[in-house]
Amino acid sequence: MKNAILKFGVWERSKKLRRKTVTAKVGNISIGSDHPVVVQSMTNTDTSDVKRTVWQIKDLAAAGSELVRVTVNNDSAAKAVPLIIENLEKQNIRIPVIGDFHYNGHLLLTKYPVCAESLAKYRINPGNVGTKTRDKNFTTIVEQAINFQKPIRIGVNWGSLDKQILTEMMDENSKHIHPLPARDVTINAMVESALRSALLAENVGIAHNMIILSAKVSGVQDLITVYRQLAGKCEYPLHLGLTEAGMGNKGIIASTAGLSALLQEGIGDTIRVSLTPQPGGDRREEVYVAQQILQSLELRSFTPQVTACPGCGRTTSTLFQKLADDINTYIKEQMPSWRIQYPGVEALNVAVMGCVVNGPGESKHANIGISLPGTGEDPKAPVYIDGTHATTLKGEHIAEEFQKLLNDYIVKNYS
Ligand code: SF4
Repeated sequence: MKNAILKFGVWERSKKLRRKTVTAKVGNISIGSDHPVVVQSMTNTDTSDVKRTVWQIKDLAAAGSELVRVTVNNDSAAKAVPLIIENLEKQNIRIPVIGDFHYNGHLLLTKYPVCAESLAKYRINPGNVGTKTRDKNFTTIVEQAINFQKPIRIGVNWGSLDKQILTEMMDENSKHIHPLPARDVTINAMVESALRSALLAENVGIAHNMIILSAKVSGVQDLITVYRQLAGKCEYPLHLGLTEAGMGNKGIIASTAGLSALLQEGIGDTIRVSLTPQPGGDRREEVYVAQQILQSLELRSFTPQVTACPGCGRTTSTLFQKLADDINTYIKEQMPSWRIQYPGVEALNVAVMGCVVNGPGESKHANIGISLPGTGEDPKAPVYIDGTHATTLKGEHIAEEFQKLLNDYIVKNYS
C-alpha cells in the first residue's frame, strides 16, 4: 500500500506541473498532459535489414522504450516496415513503430500503403519535404495519415529548417530599426515553421489531436528558448529532445540539462535522448538516460534507485563501491522479470553507504539500506529496512547476504 501511495503521489505531482495539451494517441500509447511523459528511441540499423531492426527494437522495448522510430528512406525500407511489425507481433512485442520520413515521404507512403498502414505515426520534417512542391508533398503525407488514421509529428530541426520561412523572416527582420540577432530570428522561424505546418495539416483535414510538434536544436539554451515559445503558442503535445546531443558525458549532460529545465516547467509530453553511441555501443543507453531524467525529476518511476555515497578518505577499501555496482547491475538484470512479477518495485529505494557518517541516516530514508564499515570502524554493516535497524551483517559474505535481504524485501512488499 505504501508503495502504491508513493507511486500515485509522483504521478499526481507530474500532472499538476504539466502544461495543458490535447491527447494524441500513437498506437496504444497516449501522449499529452493527461498522461505520463513517454520515453521513445530510434533504431540505427538499416531498416531494410528486417532481422537486425527487429532485434534492436526488441532490445529497446525491453529496456523500456515505449515508442520506437525507424528511418523509412527508400523502397526497401518501406517494404521492410510491415515485415518488421509482423515479426514483432509474432513475438508479442506491441510497441508503436514510427516512420521517419525525409524528402520522399509523400512518394513512399503512397507507393507502399501497407507500410503506411502498419506504422503507428509518421514523422514529417517540414524543411525536408521539397522546395517548389513543398506544400503539395506535405499535403500528400497528411492525406495518407488521414486515410490510415495515423497521427503525425511535425518535427522541425534547425539543421534542416524550412529556408523559405527563414528567408522571409530574416528579410522582414532586416527592415526593422532594431533588428533581432540572427539566432533569435532562427528560433522564431522554427516556431513559425512548426505552427504553420500544423495549421496546414489541419486545413488538409487531420484532427487537432492527431498532431505532435517538436523543434530540435543542438544547444541547451536554444532548446529551452524554442520550446518555451512553442509551448506558449499551442496546445499540441510536444516531443522534446536535443538533436545531435553528442557522445558520452557531453550528450548525456547536455540532454539532461535541456530536458530537465523544460520538464520542470511542465513542458514536454514525450522525450528522446539522441546520444551518439560508441562504435558497437549499446543503443539502449539513450533509453536508460531518458528514464533516469524522468525518474530523477520524480515524474515517473522505472527502476529501483540505488543511493550510494561517493566515498572519501574514510573508505580506503572499494568494498562499498563494488557492492553499489553489484546491486545496480543485479537490479538492471532482474528488472525485466521483476516488472511483471512485482508491480510497483520500480519505486524502491536502496542505499549503499561507505561509513557511519551519513550511512545509517541515508539508509533509514531508503526502503532498504546498508552502511558498510569505514576505515578503522568495527567490521560490521548495519542494515535498515523501512527506517528501522533490521540486522547487522559481518564477515566475508556481506554482499550476498544483503542481496538476499533485498530479494526478501521485494517478495514481501511487491508480490
Ligand atoms: S558516507 Fe562516509 S564514506 Fe561516504 S562520503 Fe560520507 S563520510 Fe565518506
